[in-house]
Amino acid sequence: MKALICGAGIAGLTLAWHLERAGWEVELVERAEAFREGGYLIDFYGAGLVVAERMGLRERLTEARHPVDEVRYVDGSGRPRSRLKLGAGGLEGVLSLLRGDLARIIADDVRAPVTYGTSVEAAEQDGRRVSVRLTDGTSREVDLLVGADGARSRVRELAFGDVAPRYLGHQVAACVLTDAELSRRVGVRYQMLTEPGLMAGAYALGDDRLALLFLRREPDPELPADPAAALRRHFGHLGWILPDVLARCPEPPALYHDTVTQVVMERWHRGRIVLLGDSCQAVSLFAGHGASMAMAAAWILADELTSDAMDPASALVRYQARMEPVISEVQRFGRRFIQWMAPSHRWRIVARDLILRLAGLPGGERLFVNALSQGGHNLIPPQHTTVSPS
Ligand SMILES: Cc1cc2nc3c(=O)[nH]c(=O)nc-3n(C[C@H](O)[C@H](O)[C@H](O)COP(=O)(O)OP(=O)(O)OC[C@H]3O[C@@H](n4cnc5c(N)ncnc54)[C@H](O)[C@@H]3O)c2cc1C
Repeated sequence: MKALICGAGIAGLTLAWHLERAGWEVELVERAEAFREGGYLIDFYGAGLVVAERMGLRERLTEARHPVDEVRYVDGSGRPRSRLKLGAGGLEGVLSLLRGDLARIIADDVRAPVTYGTSVEAAEQDGRRVSVRLTDGTSREVDLLVGADGARSRVRELAFGDVAPRYLGHQVAACVLTDAELSRRVGVRYQMLTEPGLMAGAYALGDDRLALLFLRREPDPELPADPAAALRRHFGHLGWILPDVLARCPEPPALYHDTVTQVVMERWHRGRIVLLGDSCQAVSLFAGHGASMAMAAAWILADELTSDAMDPASALVRYQARMEPVISEVQRFGRRFIQWMAPSHRWRIVARDLILRLAGLPGGERLFVNALSQGGHNLIPPQHTTVSPS
């Protein structure tokens, strides 16, 4: 069987890993000109971590992690408003990683070729095969076309027409800066400053690098033409490290910026074309589960496809039936969490500080772990393994 995967991100690479070990011929195309390094810090845990363990990646992920030993909210002069100490290793069962490091560690074990700077131009199917035309002018005949190309999926557009992601009323930006002095000021703790409708977060990665995240409430989903200038305009007056950080803010693509969205679709597949990861199930950064869910979905899709290669259509139906209820639950959690991660009113900021102080009491960090582990507990059955890491 032959698969073309559009998008060499977390989901696409994980699927390639599994399918090639089951004897499939796999090829990936990726719009970015080269492998996407860095990005933003993610918390990785739950079903995705179980999949990563089955793939034999746990040790390398643990080496790449950035333990967050404290979560702290600060005011404009950098003084703590509230904090939660998590201990030297961070939260148990949670790996804080750069998205690029997670993708790199999966990619290191994938043999399938990746063609960068390329996407899918057109696709036609006849029930048995999909004919794909790529943007580099070449064509492929495959048994399965997979759209693992993120929330703004091109494959989704080709197979389902215009499906607008659900805008959650916020824009996000993230980057990694190298600056020894700023890194020292932030330290090995996740520090955040919130004002109604605005959140800026920073974490020192070591090697003098600093991971930064900016979240802004914005009714209009249209992205600014100059995102670095927009960040300076909205965050530059808030104090703390922000004026210094924003003076060094890079331009895209080193500066990631996007709308915060969820993707909700009735069907995730049409004939021999299937969507995977954010393209059909984006939960948003508010749910803090997207990478984990993308890996779990890839594992389940591979599991269904390889256990019933003669009938891909039924395999795709079962894949969606297994994943969708969990995704709906995680998406609901994400929408509820918006008001806590990016409070729109000052009283919520005060309430959030109070809750964090309470969580700092003995045993209170369990509240954090429980909040993080919403959804997906039983997605990956304990005994079920179809492939081995080699
Ligand atoms: C700021 C932020 C914080 C987050 N925090 C967390 C967290 O704490 N925990 C967590 O689990 N998740 C988190 N997420 C979500 C997580 O990053 C995503 O859900 C996850 O990366 C989805 O994997 P994916 O493979 O579907 O998409 P991606 O990882 O985005 O990969 C899609 C790939 O497709 C490529 N592509 C796009 N369009 C095309 C095209 N037309 N043709 C070819 N290739 C294309 C892209 O370049 C990319 O390489 C966060 C996201 C953001 C933005």
